[in-house]
Amino acid sequence: MKVLVTGGAGYVGSVVVEMLLKERFSVSVIDNIVEGHRSAIPADIPFFEADIGTRDYVRKILGSNQIDAVIHMAGETLVSKSMSHPQDYFLGNVSKGLELLEAMRESNVKRIIFSSTAALFGNPEYTPIDEKHPTNPINAYGRSKLMFEQMLDWYHKAHGLNYVCLRYFNAAGATVEHGEHHRIETHLIPIVLQTALGQRDHVDIYGNNYDTRDGTCIRDYIHVEDLAMAHIEALRRMDDIGPQKLNLGNGEGYSVKEVIEAAREITGHPIPAREADRRSGDPAVLVASSERTRSLLGLKPRYPEIRQIVRTAWDWHSRNHHGYPD
Ligand code: UDP
Repeated sequence: MKVLVTGGAGYVGSVVVEMLLKERFSVSVIDNIVEGHRSAIPADIPFFEADIGTRDYVRKILGSNQIDAVIHMAGETLVSKSMSHPQDYFLGNVSKGLELLEAMRESNVKRIIFSSTAALFGNPEYTPIDEKHPTNPINAYGRSKLMFEQMLDWYHKAHGLNYVCLRYFNAAGATVEHGEHHRIETHLIPIVLQTALGQRDHVDIYGNNYDTRDGTCIRDYIHVEDLAMAHIEALRRMDDIGPQKLNLGNGEGYSVKEVIEAAREITGHPIPAREADRRSGDPAVLVASSERTRSLLGLKPRYPEIRQIVRTAWDWHSRNHHGYPD
């Protein structure tokens, strides 16, 4: 199967590309290299430095590479930025996403795997969150991803587009080759590890009075390789199981304080932490029920424990102090 990966030079994208190549898929990548890194993708696969909003160009890529399926991971991803710059999220995730869907429709490409998010659930009514949980996003990021999912429903009904939406909980960890490097880092685990490396003097804990066991937010951290394997199984099975909207987490939640404590143990560094104000748009708890995804996709996590996840991230960060060279 010939696959086009949008956002393939990003953190999750680079690992999805790595795993697709290992599993012998034919892979092309489109990435505008605003957040992604050219050196995160192999030099010998077709790479198009472009934005997914360039419909005519994307249509040419789809046609000339005889693409069978798109894995759509390009987009805006930061909760806090979505609260101050919602327009970027509606432009990047909805409007440009629609251009991609139109390029696919015009090229008769009928399969898409979409990187969606747990943020579309908002503050959970119950946990763990299963696929029946209502969607009620409290940040523009989650809203923009939900809007794209809703567009997929209509493309399915009207045009027979088949889709699998994978609603990511918190992607974390690294493979030997690929890790998490954002130009402006906002994510907990890389910030904690940069502090262990002495690149920051402390970690801010955003909020200590949430209704959780230690007052800090609880998240479900899933190893990026386990996450990537879900895309591959979704591709293999989507003709039989699609369309689907699936939750993709580990099924276990860890608080901010617990993550920092795990990193202290693994790195052997003190990692000073300070209590800070809540970050706008953060739900208190996001934990997935992963039963449906695991049974439909036949998955068993390789890295179920937070310590294993932090360990792989630490291995990568300690070998790549400043991330990718570009
Ligand atoms: N967080 C924190 N300090 C940081 C970065 C993140 O306390 O420097 C918290 C954040 O408020 C959230 C959790 O860690 O509750 C995970 O945040 P991250 O940005 O990694 O992922 P998100 O859940 O926003 O996708």
